[in-house]
Amino acid sequence: MIIEPRFVKVTTRTGVEVRRNIPHAKLKTIGAWCFVDHFGPTDQTDGMVVAKHPHTGLQTVTWLLEGQAEHRDSIGTIQQILPGQVNIMTAGQGISHSELSQSGPKRLHAVQLWVALPEAHRNTNPAFEHRADLPEFDLNGSKIKLFAGDFDGFSSQTTVFSPIVGLELDMPAASTVSLPLRRDFEYGILLAKGSATVNGVLVNENELLYIEVGHEQLEIVSTEPVIAIVIGGTPFEEKIVMWWNFIGRSQKDITEAREQWNARDSRFGDFEDQIGGWIPAPELPHVTLQPR
Ligand code: MN
Repeated sequence: MIIEPRFVKVTTRTGVEVRRNIPHAKLKTIGAWCFVDHFGPTDQTDGMVVAKHPHTGLQTVTWLLEGQAEHRDSIGTIQQILPGQVNIMTAGQGISHSELSQSGPKRLHAVQLWVALPEAHRNTNPAFEHRADLPEFDLNGSKIKLFAGDFDGFSSQTTVFSPIVGLELDMPAASTVSLPLRRDFEYGILLAKGSATVNGVLVNENELLYIEVGHEQLEIVSTEPVIAIVIGGTPFEEKIVMWWNFIGRSQKDITEAREQWNARDSRFGDFEDQIGGWIPAPELPHVTLQPR
């Protein structure tokens, strides 16, 4: 199944658009991955200036293909991130953060992914992790950078709360690569740059191909240089309510988080940054949010 992106204007000072593949009407999660945003490539002048905003019940995974950004959060983190490095922020019961792209690199190209926390961990204390020493290795002439979970005997050593994998695959033109898959995982492959044929299906740039559980390998054939993001995991069986930047299990969870954020409750902490201000949560829809 091909998942085409929606173009979404995120609340940033520069009004840029991101391409969002999931959540999608046909696909809520891939493993515990519940959100796939793809941003750029764009000039840094149109970069990422996302003021202070909250999260609950999830981890954010930030991965750059080009550029540089600064992350700040309410547990005191100030962290620069470069391509090949990962930022994993565990929101747990509540955190707030901001993101600011940095001048220097000419362009910015990034994915931001969310991972839903399972019930046993969704109210954990907030945490932040930056890793620059991730496994990188060659496979059939392509380069793999593993940024979450385990793959083919390698471990990213990043803190996750369910069996998942996240990696970047860089392929030269006119090449073929076979990735071994776990049969108990479902997968998504996002073509962040270039188009490729994946298990016999043509996937265009910006599209995500969903692969259900039970497959043993992913065969990718490129004619042009390709950058793909591969995510996977065991199917996430819990029903969740995902609204704005919050994940909960009920309307009440969301309403509470929204009210607390807009009242600047201590649940979400506070910090200083160069952007200034904060993004208020929008009005709730008039219909009751249903777990799905
Ligand atoms: Mn965020």
